[in-house]
Amino acid sequence: MPGSSRMPISLRESFDSVKKRSRTIDPRQVFNIDILRNIVFFFFVLRIVRRTFWKLKGRGLFGTIAELYHDVRRVLYGYFLRAPGVRTQVRKQITESLAKVQAKMIPADGTRYTTLPKEGWTDDALRAELDALANMDHTRWEDGYVSGAVYHGEEDLLKLQTEAYGKFTVANPIHPDVFPGVRKMEAEVVAMVLSMFHAPPTAAGVCTSGGTESILMACYGARQKAYAERGVTEPEMILPETAHTAFRKAGDYFKIKIHLVPCPAPTYQVDVHRVSRLINSNTIILVGSAPNFPHGIMDDISALSKLALKRRLPLHVDCCLGSFLVPFLDRAGFETEPFDFRLKGVTSISCDTHKYGFAPKGSSTVLYRTQELRTYQYFVSPDWSGGVYASPGIAGSRPGALIAGCWTSMMKVGEAGYIDSCVKIVGCAKKIAEHVTSSPTLGTELEILGRPLVSVVAFTARNLNIYDIADGMNQKGWHLNALQNPPAMHVAVTMPITKVWERLVADLEAVVEEEREKERVRAVEGKSLKGKATGDTAALYGVAGSLPNKAVVVDLATGFIDLMYKA
Ligand SMILES: *Cc1c(COP(=O)(O)O)cnc(C)c1O
Repeated sequence: MPGSSRMPISLRESFDSVKKRSRTIDPRQVFNIDILRNIVFFFFVLRIVRRTFWKLKGRGLFGTIAELYHDVRRVLYGYFLRAPGVRTQVRKQITESLAKVQAKMIPADGTRYTTLPKEGWTDDALRAELDALANMDHTRWEDGYVSGAVYHGEEDLLKLQTEAYGKFTVANPIHPDVFPGVRKMEAEVVAMVLSMFHAPPTAAGVCTSGGTESILMACYGARQKAYAERGVTEPEMILPETAHTAFRKAGDYFKIKIHLVPCPAPTYQVDVHRVSRLINSNTIILVGSAPNFPHGIMDDISALSKLALKRRLPLHVDCCLGSFLVPFLDRAGFETEPFDFRLKGVTSISCDTHKYGFAPKGSSTVLYRTQELRTYQYFVSPDWSGGVYASPGIAGSRPGALIAGCWTSMMKVGEAGYIDSCVKIVGCAKKIAEHVTSSPTLGTELEILGRPLVSVVAFTARNLNIYDIADGMNQKGWHLNALQNPPAMHVAVTMPITKVWERLVADLEAVVEEEREKERVRAVEGKSLKGKATGDTAALYGVAGSLPNKAVVVDLATGFIDLMYKA
């Protein structure tokens, strides 16, 4: 067995040689390790220095200190909330608030169906039940009591949409050979919206399930592009504070760091100079709104476009809300500002067909300046056992019926119809704004935020608590939107609202008058309690919203979503 006697010797030899080497230090090896260590350390330091530099450049010294201060406060308050005694108290209050919400939202009486019926229902029984469901006690959007939400809602259009839907209930654009009509309609919807936004011949787009998906796709595409072209692995984007929260969702989903830029009074447009300061080599996209959801203000898209061109960055313009109003402002005879592909720096636009396009809910578009930009949002899986798979966006199967509903709405309303609704809706928003500014009561107590050019009018209160006013409006049956940072509320004018705006303004006047009277009484009693929570809105935004750490609000909102799934 010669082999077995040689093995241990050779092993021992190599063991000895290692021991020897580690005793007599090899200078070459040490040199190599040191260099490696230095290089790693250098990059580590470089990273910190670079980040610190970007931070200081982006926020300035005082801004950086202020941010640090807020972070510390948030963390400390978080510890406080989790302290033993406090934690149970907070839990108890959250549970109580949610119980109140539940009592309001979920009727305790009536039959609940939580398992399949043993036998299927008859058509008549189902029709009766569906009627009952549609007529459950609700805020009357049909009578114009709701801000946003239902943008058209006229009987004849609804009927036509339902017919279109009925013809394509099973259709799915993922099978263009099976449903060629749906493919054609989808392509035409995109083409029509592209033309509304003055897209160049190179442009392209896709249909999505809503504004959020359109925005998610634009951000995702920008991230993929930055990685493919510049190797960006730690993507960042710069948002106006007022940009729709779907961008923050994109940041969360796709691991893109978010920089928020203030939109200060008096214009409430994003501060473009500060956007510029926050750009660094990790920036993947800039964003502007036309207009934004909170205040209905259009950012200075021209300035953002110039900046995007100069820094060679994509610029997304969020027209989800502006949708079919902004493109027609000039032809409806209203003041407008440049916002679309005519500005050379604009690379993508999101436009919701299901808002002022009056399509059924679940439909939006995202448009790109070039076909190549669109490709970045595609998903292709060439080697899946289920076959080669390719889809334009997040969804796999998609409802062809909604595409049919969207196409039908656009063809039915037509350019003249959209211009006409722009005249009515924007005209109404201007009348509301005008009344709020010029009426003696509203004029002294309320203040409109910025100069809205489209359909949203946002206002804050000078001396009263705006959330008490919002609660007062709720009690009168209105469903308007409460806003925060700064405290305010808004109305997004829709077709149903154009018919009742005078009642809205009259009710607002009455509520402001009541609040003023209450404040007067409080002042006489020597306890002017501006900001004390009385109603739900006031409690949520006035009290919970002012805390340095929003954990309580997060818990409340999470509990709220849970409640929505309580059968
Ligand atoms: C509504 C809206 C969105 C998001 O749209 P969804 O369809 O609700 O997902 C995005 N941006 C603005 C400005 C909006 O008003």
